[in-house]
Amino acid sequence: MDYGKILQAAIIGGVAALIAGSLQRWWRRRRGLPAEPVVPTQCPRCATPLPKIRRPTSLRQTLWGGWTCAGCGAELNNRGEEIPGSGK
Ligand SMILES: [Zn+2]
Repeated sequence: MDYGKILQAAIIGGVAALIAGSLQRWWRRRRGLPAEPVVPTQCPRCATPLPKIRRPTSLRQTLWGGWTCAGCGAELNNRGEEIPGSGK
């Protein structure tokens, strides 16, 4: 085992992750978005907490993300906003 090479790879990987992260933050700032993506935690309609682990219930959710509220059945997009015309 060559620990030198492993260490080198770990450092390169860490630096690459740092650069990717700061590029992403820079890009979000440029577009006037918050530095970190806002992860919705509850349904905007009925305030039911959203599960941390997303279980897609439709092809759209599989592709684009989003939730179906367990409380009211509203469909939420990946920013936690209610999709008009969804739910009961
Ligand atoms: Zn709801």
